[in-house]
Amino acid sequence: MTCVFCEVSVRKVPASYVYNDRDVFAIMSLEQPNPYKVLVIPHAHVESIYDLEDELAASIFQVTAKIARAIRKVSNCDGMNLVQSNGRAGQQDVFHFHLHLVPRFAGDQIIFDWDNTPSKRETLDQFADEICLGLKK
Ligand SMILES: [Zn+2]
Repeated sequence: MTCVFCEVSVRKVPASYVYNDRDVFAIMSLEQPNPYKVLVIPHAHVESIYDLEDELAASIFQVTAKIARAIRKVSNCDGMNLVQSNGRAGQQDVFHFHLHLVPRFAGDQIIFDWDNTPSKRETLDQFADEICLGLKK
């Protein structure tokens, strides 16, 4: 099965490059809900965040921070969202890890919406304990 980001990585598919190094590249997103939206992508075919080696994860985030600063500089955006989706339930559309940098402007029409009601402390403690156990496995 062909993977569009693997093809972009080797320049079989055209893209507007923002950044490129040995491990990571960044391109302008095809969709621009706000101007300057960028995707940061590892060259290696890594399906999701669960498959990222620590060193590659660090590289991706270092590049992401650099590009976020550059986008802010050129766009004067008021804010920035990082969106990274995993699995169909997480609305992942291309199954090659990618991270969206979405510049935000006051009054734009982009909405991230979920219930902000605080959970009970016992529930939070229980979830935290379970995740801590998961970190040890
Ligand atoms: Zn791929």
